[in-house]
Amino acid sequence: MQIAIASGKGGVGKSTITASLLYLLKDDYSFVAVDADAEAPNLGLLLGVTEWDEEREHIGAKVARINTESCVKCGICYERCPYGCIYIDDEEGNYVVNELTCEGCNVCGLVCPVAGTITLEEVRSGVIRKATTKYGFPLISAQLDVGRPESGKLVTEEKEWASKLMKELNLEHMIVDSAAGIGCQVIASLGGADVAILIAEPTPASLSDVQRAYKVVQHFREPAYLIINKADINPGFRGLEEWAEKEGIPILGRIPYDRAVPKSMSMLKPVVEAFPDSKASKAIVEIAEVIKKEILG
Ligand code: SF4
Ligand code: SF4
Repeated sequence: MQIAIASGKGGVGKSTITASLLYLLKDDYSFVAVDADAEAPNLGLLLGVTEWDEEREHIGAKVARINTESCVKCGICYERCPYGCIYIDDEEGNYVVNELTCEGCNVCGLVCPVAGTITLEEVRSGVIRKATTKYGFPLISAQLDVGRPESGKLVTEEKEWASKLMKELNLEHMIVDSAAGIGCQVIASLGGADVAILIAEPTPASLSDVQRAYKVVQHFREPAYLIINKADINPGFRGLEEWAEKEGIPILGRIPYDRAVPKSMSMLKPVVEAFPDSKASKAIVEIAEVIKKEILG
């Protein structure tokens, strides 16, 4: 089974809750964990990963290159680049592409009057790594290079590696910590999942974000569940629970705000391991039990 954990927004505790759930499920199930938040991968950190067993470059982005030999310096590409990525080199007066900001849209190549002067070249856009966590299960984690566009392909490649690992190691499940937002990394995270677990806080902003993530889940027709984090920070706000009820999304549990959570993060441990008696840990343990019963069987 493939489970995707998503939130529609960063900062609601998705990865910290995921780390604790992985810790609690590890003794009863075999799985590979996937950190699909390639712009800010921190699941490895939260699981205390300090070394990677294997690393693979991901070649996925395209950037424009200008051949200064054939360029006639007409400046059309400079004027037409929609992202302002072309500049004039001060020393030689050549037109040059800023590779860090180039989106690879090829507008410059299409408008250039000298055929073959601007070409699109594939470049590395990130890296995918594998680690064996100290808890015994493997983790696949992707990281985008600075300035490279968000890449759903990176997450897809990551999940393909995880699928191969499942076969090789005879693992039952893949548990994916999705990226924040609703961009292509999230679509790649949720695509192919059997179940989506959404995490949100009881605030209007978090409700709006999780509703957007749920639209992606609905697109893939996946059953969804909800975990409410920091459930007690806004007691007057009922919007999140009302929305879940209206959509028929079962609530797996409610986790109270607890200072033990940030403390455990600074210790690079899941809170359920670092502070098992904390009120957040007790709530997460209950949620893990519901997941075992309702989802994993
Ligand atoms: S490929 Fe697009 S973004 Fe890159 S330099 Fe050309 S026009 Fe600009
Ligand atoms: S459009 Fe082509 S010829 Fe004109 S400045 Fe750009 S690269 Fe040079």
